[in-house]
This record gives sequence, structure tokens and C-alpha cells, in this order.
Amino acid sequence: MNHTTSKVILFSFTDYPRLVSNLEAQGVKTSQDDLLRHGSFTFDLQGVSRAASHQIVRHRIASFSQQSQRYVKITRSYGYLKPSGIPEDLKVPVEIHGQKMELNFADVMDLTRQAEEGLVAKGIKAEDSRYLRPNAATTNIVMSMSPRQLIHFFNLRCAPDAQWEIRDLAWSMYATVSLVAPQVFGPLPAADESDYVKKRVEIVGDLVRKQAGSFEKTASGELFHLEVSPYLDLLHPVESFVRKY
Ligand SMILES: Cc1cc2nc3c(=O)[nH]c(=O)nc-3n(C[C@H](O)[C@H](O)[C@H](O)COP(=O)(O)OP(=O)(O)OC[C@H]3O[C@@H](n4cnc5c(N)ncnc54)[C@H](O)[C@@H]3O)c2cc1C
Repeated sequence: MNHTTSKVILFSFTDYPRLVSNLEAQGVKTSQDDLLRHGSFTFDLQGVSRAASHQIVRHRIASFSQQSQRYVKITRSYGYLKPSGIPEDLKVPVEIHGQKMELNFADVMDLTRQAEEGLVAKGIKAEDSRYLRPNAATTNIVMSMSPRQLIHFFNLRCAPDAQWEIRDLAWSMYATVSLVAPQVFGPLPAADESDYVKKRVEIVGDLVRKQAGSFEKTASGELFHLEVSPYLDLLHPVESFVRKY
């Protein structure tokens, strides 16, 4: 069992220069609104907590595939994400059957893992044993969205009042799409109303400009590691990648 680093991998994206030139070759002119309407971006979000994945799937105009808890072996899948606001060594008193103990976050994660594995070992189905799994347990989720919906997602989830884990993911996702489709993902509309968003949009613009040359040199099919930290002060470790065509 491990304390997880989340990963944002942009696996597939619309190649706008090619789309626009192919359409133009057929005599079809494309407006900015057309660009927002046509296109798809597919992310593999790895090592995100169930607390965050519950929020992500509330976005209805998207397609999702989430790792099954029924069939994936616990020992392979059971990571967890500890909020940075909870110190590693902070212990809380608990009492069970008259026995008092002091447990930290990792201890509780370990207990729930042992209990879930214990149920499976006693022949309980994985689909029932998983009811012991806490919100911090991590999962992997594949999400596809159109650019218009992604901008809506970023406006809500990059905002300062968004929950920290989904906000870290949203900014990392925004950075990857800004790299591959700057024609569509310019400054977010939310930047007009929020200095926090405006400042961060500028930071993303800078980090993308700095790394665009290295991305261009990345071999086709390779994953390019886009350095988002430490430029953006994310609250938990997130690594961002883009698969080069
Ligand atoms: C800071 C924050 C706090 C939140 N707190 C809570 C909370 O306490 N409790 C809670 O339950 N949720 C909460 N949410 C989730 C929120 O209510 C939305 O479910 C979530 O943000 C998805 O937004 P959406 O519906 O606009 O997006 P999507 O589902 O992606 O939809 C995008 C847009 O499409 C349109 N649309 C989609 N489906 C329909 C439909 N069936 N009919 C009509 N129009 C449709 C709407 O215009 C919608 O805005 C919170 C979200 C944020 C950002």
C-alpha cells in the first residue's frame, strides 16, 4: 500500500491545424465556435481519490471509464491519497472493544486494507468487501470531453473555491491542453472575474511556452512529461504527461 502521486495523461487530442486545413480543403470555413464544437480530448487520470472521482463524474457531458473495484485485485490497486492538511504524525484516539489506541492517517488506511483483504480471504465477494474502502483510496479514470465542456469544467474546477484535489487535476489538465491546442484553450473565461485564475492562466502560458520546444522534439508515440510543478503551487503531487502523435 502506498501514498500516491496522481498522474494526468492526455492520451488523445484533436489536431486542430490538421482539422482546419482538411475542412478548408473541402471548402468549409471554421469559426472559433466551430473549433469549440468539434474535437475531443481523452485523459487518463491515475491515482485520484474516490473523493475526487465522485466530483469528476458529476460532469454529465463527458464519457468515462473507471477502474472496476469488483475485479481489480486489492493488493495491486490499493493506494491512497492523504490530504496535505492532515500531518503524517497526527494521531487520533480510537477505542474498540475497550482497547484504546492512537492511530494516524496511514494506520487507518492500513486497517481498512487489512479488513477488506481479510473479508476476501474469508470468501466474501470483492464487490461486497470493497464497501470497507475509504474515500482516500485511489482509482484510475479515463475521461473524454469536447473542448467546450472542458472549458466549462476548468471554469468550475480551476476556481479558488474548488476542492483542492480536483483543482490540482484541473490545472494540470488545462496545462496539457494549452500545450497541444492553444487555438482553443486561451485564457479561461473565469480569469475575467478572478485574479487567482488570471495569475495562474499566465503561469500556465509561461510554462507551456518554455516547454513547447521540447514537446516538438518528442518522438511520436512517446509520453512527454510537462513540468507543471513548481510553476503552479499544487497542493499534492501531480505529474502531467502528453502522448505525442
Ligand atoms: C465549488 C463547487 C462546489 C460544489 N458543491 C456541491 C455540493 O455541495 N453538492 C452537490 O451535489 N454538488 C456540488 N457541486 C457539483 C455541481 O453541483 C455540479 O454537479 C458539477 O459542478 C457539474 O457541473 P455542471 O452540471 O454544470 O456540468 P455538466 O454536467 O458537465 O453539464 C454542463 C452543462 O450542461 C448543461 N446540462 C447538462 N446536463 C443537463 C441536463 N440534464 N439538463 C439541462 N442542462 C444540462 C448545463 O448547462 C450544465 O451546466 C459542486 C461543484 C463545485 C464546482
